[in-house]
Amino acid sequence: MTGRRTIPVADPRAQYLAHAGEIDAAMRRVLESGRYILGPECEHFEREFAAFAGVQHGVGVANGTDALHLALRACGIGPGDEVITVSHTAVATVAAIELCGATPVLVDIDPVYFTMDPEELAAAFTNRTRAVIPVHLYGQPADLGRIVPMARERGIRVIEDCAQAHGATCDGRPVGSWGDLATFSFYPTKNLGAIGDGGIVVTNDPQLAERARAFREYGWSERYVSATPGTNSRLDELQAGVLRVKLAHLARDNERRRELAAFYDRALAGTDLVLPAVRPNASHVYHLYVVRSRARNALQQALEARGIGSLVHYPVPVHLQPAYRSRLRHADMRHTERAAASVLSLPMYPELSDDDAQYVAEAVVMDSSRLTIGR
Ligand SMILES: *Cc1c(COP(=O)(O)O)cnc(C)c1O
Repeated sequence: MTGRRTIPVADPRAQYLAHAGEIDAAMRRVLESGRYILGPECEHFEREFAAFAGVQHGVGVANGTDALHLALRACGIGPGDEVITVSHTAVATVAAIELCGATPVLVDIDPVYFTMDPEELAAAFTNRTRAVIPVHLYGQPADLGRIVPMARERGIRVIEDCAQAHGATCDGRPVGSWGDLATFSFYPTKNLGAIGDGGIVVTNDPQLAERARAFREYGWSERYVSATPGTNSRLDELQAGVLRVKLAHLARDNERRRELAAFYDRALAGTDLVLPAVRPNASHVYHLYVVRSRARNALQQALEARGIGSLVHYPVPVHLQPAYRSRLRHADMRHTERAAASVLSLPMYPELSDDDAQYVAEAVVMDSSRLTIGR
C-alpha cells in the first residue's frame, strides 16, 4: 500500500462525471423546453423505468418516502390498519406507514440475508393487518417466494420497498414486479440516483396506478378538480431527464458493482469478517457491500485513518429510535440488534477503480487481523 488516498463510501459526483456529456445535454433540453414539472421527460421516464422493473405502470414522485406513502394510500390504508415491516431498514420505511395514519408492526430479520424473516412475519399477522412491506436491503431481494404467497392467501397487500435494489432479481423476476405495488428512491447515492430527490411507485394494477397518480397532485381527477384528497409529490423534469440518462447505464453499473463485490469476496475470504451472502436464485445488486465484524467500531476508525470511508447501515434500529422506541409494537429483535452492532458498509460504487478497491481490501485485511489479535 502506497500513498494516502481518500476513498468515499459512495461517490455520486463520480457518476455525474462518468456521464457528464449526456447529463448536461439532458438538462439543457429540459431548461430550453420550458416544461419543468410533469412533462414529457417524466412520462418517458415512467414508461422506461416501469419496463425496466417488469411492470405496466410507473408514477414518478418526489422521493422514496412519498412513494411508500402514496402506495399505501393507493391501497386505501389508513388509521386503524396495521402494516408489517422490518426494523432493520431506513427510518423512511416506517415513517411512511405513519404518514398515512396506519400502525407499523415491526418484525426481526433473518441473520444471514438481513431481510424480513418469513417465520416472524407469520407470527405478526392480526385481523387488522392490511399490508406487508418487505425491504430489499443492501441490494438483496427479500424472500419474496415465501412472503408474497403468505400475504396473498390472507388477502393482504404487498408493497416492495426497492429503494436499495434497482435491477435486483428473485427467481429471475425483477424486484418491483412481485408485489401489488413497489417503490423506489432516486436519492443521489442509490443504484439509480438523481441530482436531488426523486422516487417512483410502480404496479401492474391500473387502478392502483391511477390512485397514486391522483394523490401525487392534489387528488386531481382533472385539472383543478380534486376528486379525492391528495398532496403534492411530483418528479420534476430535470430529475426525470437525468434519470433517463442514468437508467440507460444502470444494468452495466450494477454489473460493475457485482464485479467489485466478487473482488471483495475473494480478497477478504481469509479474514474473520462475515461477508455478504446471496440468497439462492437471487441476483444481488450491491447497493451496499456490508460485512460484519466483532470489532466494527475500531475497524471503522482504522479505515478512516487511512482515508477510507465506511458507514453503518443502520446503527440504531427503528424500534430503538427516540421517535419510535416504547411506542411501536414489535417482536423479539435479536438479529436486528446484532446486525446494528456489527455491520459495516465498505466503499461501493460503479466508478470505484480496481486499484482503489485493492487498496480498500488490503487495508481491511490488515486492520481486521490486527484488531482481532489484539482482543
Ligand atoms: C433511501 C430509502 C428510503 C427513502 O427514500 P428517500 O428518497 O430518501 O425518501 C426508503 N427505504 C429504504 C430502504 C431506503 O434505503
